[in-house]
Amino acid sequence: MQLFDTHAHLDFARFDRDRDEVIDRAKRAGLINILTVGADLSSSRRAIKLAKHYKGIVASVGLHPHDASQFDQEVAREIKELAQEEEVKAIGETGLDYHYDNSPREEQRKAFRSQLRLANMLNKPVIIHSREAEEDTLAILKEEAQNLPGVIHCYSSSSEMAQEVIALGFHLGFTGLLTFKNLSWLREIASQTPVDKILLETDCPYMAPEPKRGKRNEPAFVTHVAEVMADCHGIPVSELAEITTENGLELFALENQARLEG
Ligand SMILES: [Zn+2]
Repeated sequence: MQLFDTHAHLDFARFDRDRDEVIDRAKRAGLINILTVGADLSSSRRAIKLAKHYKGIVASVGLHPHDASQFDQEVAREIKELAQEEEVKAIGETGLDYHYDNSPREEQRKAFRSQLRLANMLNKPVIIHSREAEEDTLAILKEEAQNLPGVIHCYSSSSEMAQEVIALGFHLGFTGLLTFKNLSWLREIASQTPVDKILLETDCPYMAPEPKRGKRNEPAFVTHVAEVMADCHGIPVSELAEITTENGLELFALENQARLEG
């Protein structure tokens, strides 16, 4: 079985103690690549460093909506500079989070638009975080991202939103949320999503799937997401893994990328 964790935060301190073992377990679970996602400037720099150090790990660079109030010309310039590194395969995560509202909404929208424009300019896909901000996310995507490939990560919005973003050409990324017993509505959306639009991800260290719920998440646990997604589509997990991994390799242009070494 070949799997690809398309959204991990391997640079976070919670992996400092045992990062090598975490990556080794990922390899043994069948993962061939991991995309470690930048959440701010320092995490983006660390993501690139990890991608340079470990075969099979690639990076994205961006500023999370939680930290959008840090966004200014200088940050924009630095993200652009980091994005030119060859290990960087996407811009993000960026987007809107009106659940926590950690940054003022106007500043979130500004940082989001700017990163979408950068992705367009550099011809790189975008990784989008959207929480309780469907209307503004869609409006901005329609204005700024007409021909931009990308993924709405940790998908947890409505089925109407799913249809709209898929029509715009986006993929949906599914995490361990898919496995939570009380979220049958999300499995319903997953079942209705064409398999060629699905990416699997962990969002580790967060969002650990059943049966690891509540623990630190890690890339190897993407297998649990794959199993539930295969059930949603009524196909063998090996087939689901193959299709979704291929989706990710194509979206992030990793066909010729080195694979994970444990
Ligand atoms: Zn994330």
